Amino acid sequence: MRAVVFDVFGQAPHVGEVDEPPCPPHAAVVAVRATGVCRSDWHAWHGHDDTVSLPHVPGHEFVGSVVAVGADVRGWSGGERVTAPFVNACGTCSTCRDGRHSICPHQTQPGFDRLGSFAERVVVHHADVNLVAVPDGVDDATAAGLGCRFATAYRAVGARGRAAAGEHVVVLGCGGVGLAAVVVAVARGAQVVAVDVSAAALDLARTLGASVTVDASGGDVVERVRAATDGGAHLVVEALGRASLLRQGITLLRPGGRHVQVGLLAGDDATPAVDVGRVVALELELLGSHGMSAHEYPAMLAEIAAGTLDASSLVGRTVGLDDAPAALAAMDGPATGAGTTVVVL
Ligand SMILES: [Zn+2]
Ligand SMILES: [Zn+2]
Repeated sequence: MRAVVFDVFGQAPHVGEVDEPPCPPHAAVVAVRATGVCRSDWHAWHGHDDTVSLPHVPGHEFVGSVVAVGADVRGWSGGERVTAPFVNACGTCSTCRDGRHSICPHQTQPGFDRLGSFAERVVVHHADVNLVAVPDGVDDATAAGLGCRFATAYRAVGARGRAAAGEHVVVLGCGGVGLAAVVVAVARGAQVVAVDVSAAALDLARTLGASVTVDASGGDVVERVRAATDGGAHLVVEALGRASLLRQGITLLRPGGRHVQVGLLAGDDATPAVDVGRVVALELELLGSHGMSAHEYPAMLAEIAAGTLDASSLVGRTVGLDDAPAALAAMDGPATGAGTTVVVL
């Protein structure tokens, strides 16, 4: 099958033929229709994720059609239009039995510890646990984001961040996850402040309902955000993955506030020092959020179907598979446009 492959970390990926990935008895093969280009793919390509082995096919946020299922799969037979959380949970361990599939210690991730979705076909492990049917009303480019960035933001703002109507919510970083967090927080009735260095991203954040945007390249971010949040945020969502923004998020909270860390902290940012004294004194909550379990998708999909949550406005551009290597390489520099890039096969 055709796929985007890299043989060496950081060297240009190419489009070539690779062997079909194996489909264990519990798994399903999905013919990819669209797959999002995510910052995590860039990290995998640059060797920041020690589960990646070479040669490698990236890609983990996709929509497609089930074309084959293993002998043990009961709920899917072929032909269904599906997505899956980027965390393929085992479904049977104690963490999964508690409903916490997105942090399953036995998880696998297409595009990281095995071949991903920048390919004609991708395999979803434990298909009965992880496949999610996508409603007809959600187009391919939008649905691709449901496997990662949109679902991640939905859980970070909702189940983890507990954003409520009237609260001041600050989103640090307006890439795919950050813009999705703006959408979800606005839908919860929050007053949203969006922070980024990209004027295009901030324009899109405003279009999506952010009340205030702050250009972080202008300095005085803390002062300006405090002024826009009546002294401090109830909730900060860090959606970029920078130690400096984690520290800033804690500074931006009002007493009793919550910081939800969504951005993955890699390399030099992996183990940041944070002001725990402030966390204690102000009874702040420092929370991690990692993807979302398949069983949590129906509530999100119902909101999307009802039109109360618009997941479609986050797609910046679509490209073909042949242009996917360049789209990945474009992440070396600052974002040139707003919204996410989606590869359509
Ligand atoms: Zn992703
Ligand atoms: Zn598990």
